[in-house]
Amino acid sequence: MPYQEERKQLLKTVQQAYKVDLIRMSAGNISTRAANDMVAITPSGIKYRYMKAEDISIVDLEGNLVEGPKPSSETPMHTAIYRNVPRTESICHTHSIYGMVFAMLEEDIPLMNVELMVCGAPLPVAPWAAPGTAKAGEVTVDIFLSRPELSVILLRQHGLVAIGNSLDQAYEKAYNAETGLETYYKSRLLGTPQPFTRDQINEIKEVYGI
Ligand SMILES: [Zn+2]
Repeated sequence: MPYQEERKQLLKTVQQAYKVDLIRMSAGNISTRAANDMVAITPSGIKYRYMKAEDISIVDLEGNLVEGPKPSSETPMHTAIYRNVPRTESICHTHSIYGMVFAMLEEDIPLMNVELMVCGAPLPVAPWAAPGTAKAGEVTVDIFLSRPELSVILLRQHGLVAIGNSLDQAYEKAYNAETGLETYYKSRLLGTPQPFTRDQINEIKEVYGI
């Protein structure tokens, strides 16, 4: 099977993300760059629970299908990011609960905890773009290009998108963002959480070398 290694690696990440509830049913999608300027991406409409390596689609950088089943309907967003944001090797896009909750508000997510810090917080909410459209790619590309430190963006009334220099890293960014958002949400129920001060940020950066 062509692109076997990429498909295997992607399936492994899919299974990890499914296990921790980042992706559910067939919502959300994950991709990675493959050999010959191709992209391996999760398919359209196949439930993650049943997905096999041969179900992974291979598309070119314009989103045309090269191998495998029909790719995710959100392929245009993934390929736009690969074409325009060179630091991206892999993408993890989720409809995870807390990503969706905050994506329905128009407020940036402040730098509240280390989990959000490693995602490049404050995290912006992108302007509205219907899922699956070229515009969804344009709005995310604009933000990623203007914020080189940023690896996670909330997609308005939709979910979140995380980029990384490997499948593991894109998955970890999405996971960290979801954890950071969940704890921020819960602390807002109990009181008024305060973002890190400039001094605290410098202190953490020094300790972690970030
Ligand atoms: Zn989506």
